[in-house]
Amino acid sequence: MNKIKVIFLLIILSTGALIYSLNTKSENLEVYFLDVGQGDAILIKTPQGQNIVIDGGPDNLLLYELGQALPWWDRTIDYLVISHYHADHYMGFPELLKKYKVKNVLVTAHEPNDLLYLIWQEALSDYNLNPKIVKVGERFVIDSDLSWQVLLADDSHEDFNDNSLVLRLSYKETDFLFMGDLPIAGEEKLLSLGFDLRSEVLKVGHHGSKYSSGEAFLAAVEPRVCVIQSGIDNKFSHPHPEAIERFKQIGCSIEDTQNKGTFKVISDGRQVLFDTIP
Ligand SMILES: [Zn+2]
Ligand SMILES: [Zn+2]
Repeated sequence: MNKIKVIFLLIILSTGALIYSLNTKSENLEVYFLDVGQGDAILIKTPQGQNIVIDGGPDNLLLYELGQALPWWDRTIDYLVISHYHADHYMGFPELLKKYKVKNVLVTAHEPNDLLYLIWQEALSDYNLNPKIVKVGERFVIDSDLSWQVLLADDSHEDFNDNSLVLRLSYKETDFLFMGDLPIAGEEKLLSLGFDLRSEVLKVGHHGSKYSSGEAFLAAVEPRVCVIQSGIDNKFSHPHPEAIERFKQIGCSIEDTQNKGTFKVISDGRQVLFDTIP
């Protein structure tokens, strides 16, 4: 009798989970800009059900934010991307490996000689993960509607920001450009490579620093939404008024985690929509 009750309960629970998951599946691409204080952390939920994380912020706030954005049973990260090896972009990741199953790690060939990198290498080996070093121009195709391309992946600059991995994600007619902390010199290199940079959504370089987001670069991207990930009262005073002025001049709407907390930008493939998280 008890066994039958348990079986019934399991059937009811699994049916409920199935209905819930069908309801939450959508045709939309959802890009969450997670509020992890001063640092970058981005979660991309694809219409096909994959999770892509670009950068992991400085600490365990990442886990809290991912827990809010993903349902409890979804513990798989299909792609984990590190833009560059500054603490505010990847020190949330060692803890993430303990809680989530990570399938692929994408990085540049940069190998810093510091303690943080050592901690990260140990975490990777604990979970038998071998990062894949990406190449400029390389394209990752999820299906005919969704793919992303590596636009820059330098590895030998002294300033880690110059080694930022730049990605452009395309869903049907909409594009998202993720800049890491790339400064203007890197933007100039990017412009010289001749990629199509036009993107509806730009995750601006280096938390809105005045040394990123140059005029020529912004003119090539023509973003409608400029996203700044920065923390309240951060010691770098990011974002800088000069950068803000440049965003205003091209007429993009400025969305920042500092003032709005975590938010998402949704794409149906034709248009993008800003959405706050209650
Ligand atoms: Zn940074
Ligand atoms: Zn940096």
